Amino acid sequence: MPGLQAKERKTDLEEMAQTPLDVLVIGGGITGAGIAWDASLRGMRVGLVEMQDFAEGTSSRSTKLVHGGLRYLQQYQLGVVRETGRERAVLYRLAPHVVRPTQMLLPLVPGGNYSRLTMSFGTWLYDRLAGVKKTERRKMLSAQETFQLEPLLTDWVNGGGLYYEYLTNDARLTVDVIKSAVSHGAFAVNHAKAEGLLYGGDGRIRGATIRDRVDGKAYEVQAKVVVNAAGPWVDQLRKMDHSMDEKHLLLAKGVHIVVPYDRLPLGRAVYFDNVDKRMIFAIPRGKITYIGTTDTEYEGDPAEVIPEREDVQYLLDAASYIFPSTHLTLADLCSSWAGVRPLIAEDGKQADEVSRKDEIWVSKSGLITIAGGKLTAFRKMAERAVDRIAVQLHALDGRSIVSARTIQVPISGGECGGSEGFAQQRSKWVQQARERGLSEEDGVYLADQYGSNTLRLLDYWQNDGLAMAQLRYAEEEERAVYPLDFLVRRSSYLFFEPQRYAESAARVVDQMAQYFHWNEQLREEQANQVQRTYAIATLKTYAA
Ligand code: FAD
Repeated sequence: MPGLQAKERKTDLEEMAQTPLDVLVIGGGITGAGIAWDASLRGMRVGLVEMQDFAEGTSSRSTKLVHGGLRYLQQYQLGVVRETGRERAVLYRLAPHVVRPTQMLLPLVPGGNYSRLTMSFGTWLYDRLAGVKKTERRKMLSAQETFQLEPLLTDWVNGGGLYYEYLTNDARLTVDVIKSAVSHGAFAVNHAKAEGLLYGGDGRIRGATIRDRVDGKAYEVQAKVVVNAAGPWVDQLRKMDHSMDEKHLLLAKGVHIVVPYDRLPLGRAVYFDNVDKRMIFAIPRGKITYIGTTDTEYEGDPAEVIPEREDVQYLLDAASYIFPSTHLTLADLCSSWAGVRPLIAEDGKQADEVSRKDEIWVSKSGLITIAGGKLTAFRKMAERAVDRIAVQLHALDGRSIVSARTIQVPISGGECGGSEGFAQQRSKWVQQARERGLSEEDGVYLADQYGSNTLRLLDYWQNDGLAMAQLRYAEEEERAVYPLDFLVRRSSYLFFEPQRYAESAARVVDQMAQYFHWNEQLREEQANQVQRTYAIATLKTYAA
């Protein structure tokens, strides 16, 4: 993969600063990643900067569903349901290694959000709006059928519905989309912050000052068009651009908790009514089950959001309410995460009532801001944003830009003949992993994480454990610069395999210290960060 070697960040920044870009994208979450991918496919010269790690903002902290959002039906947001519902199938075709269908059980409870009639009609309409294929259409269940499927449910459940959603790994999806953009010529640099905006004499935005947060050096990057895809931080950039108007963000915090799978061994994902009538997901995934989410207004720094004890207790109580025999307590917590939804504020509405639709705002200086939206809709959001970029480029230099091509181009790792080809290719990748000496289980794990990139990753296998091969791949081809880039976002160990996080953390720090020639002070700082992050996720106290 060209240009995503961690050690080549510097060269990329220098090149971006030397030759003006067509488009500078600020923000390396899924929104910015999608825009860089779409724009590079349309032949634009694109640079993306991310002040933390790729996906370190909201895009590694979601419920990890590519979904139409049944709850948006209740809010009559039919457009959001239609678009996101249809995108599920598109993303499954383009990236079957990170987007997979999963059955979702919706238990019926007396006094809950749904009656049998509204559940039946709602899920029927959902399938129609989303264009769901016949084999995946919803099925209504009797109480007996519901308990057969999920014996852990409380005995006052009196029926249910089964329908399909899609599971993803948000951080890996983001990185794979960035890799796709880079393979089509884009630059993408993490740990590089847009600190100031540059303007021409006519007041038009002309680029940004980018600070490399690894060595502190600043660069002036010139671009014909600048896009603000900064998620929860978009208003900060709009303030910098002096273009705040009555539109602004409403930040809503959402927490998920993780327990070992054998403490909540669900046969499939369950989307249930909590006692307070909020809907909560419980999603089994390999060795763990995760539960979420909360939805509360947030006013702090989005980079500092963490799960608090009361958020965790709320979710443990919610799980114990619907699965009473599990008696989950704080002692079962093995990880957790918190994120901030960048919603567009609406007068008189609270966080959980506000629309999830996206909007594009163009300021007087020409800064294009894309706000709101969902991970699921990122490809369509990118299409709309790049259409606006194309209008600006046309006005500036008269060029005509082709329309979006992302619907037909596989995302990195998905080069396997779409979702149909995935199953067949998967067994080949597993076989090749076996031939290199990996176990069947590890081969399957790699194939499910990396898809067609499994073969590239296997080149880094040196018989010293899976984590080390993944780490070398992440440094050489996915721009992991610090241990947490790898332990949290490239591997997702912190959330899905907390045990592996704890076991491999010290080796990861040592290997990276050697690879990047860190001095002892930096090595120690990074080791502390790794321990502190684990302590926050498990609600343990930590003193550095
Ligand atoms: P981010 O991912 O936050 O990316 C913006 C990036 O910009 C950040 O990484 C930040 O560091 C960077 N940045 C900011 N300022 C600068 C600067 N000056 N210079 C350089 N970089 C900068 N959606 C779904 O579709 N399915 C779900 O299941 C789902 N569940 C969710 C659950 C929760 C709890 C939350 C919080 C959200 C959920 N969402 C879900 C919504 C989805 O996660 C977000 O819509 C999406 O991730 C937003 O992506 P983004 O790229 O706009 O923002």
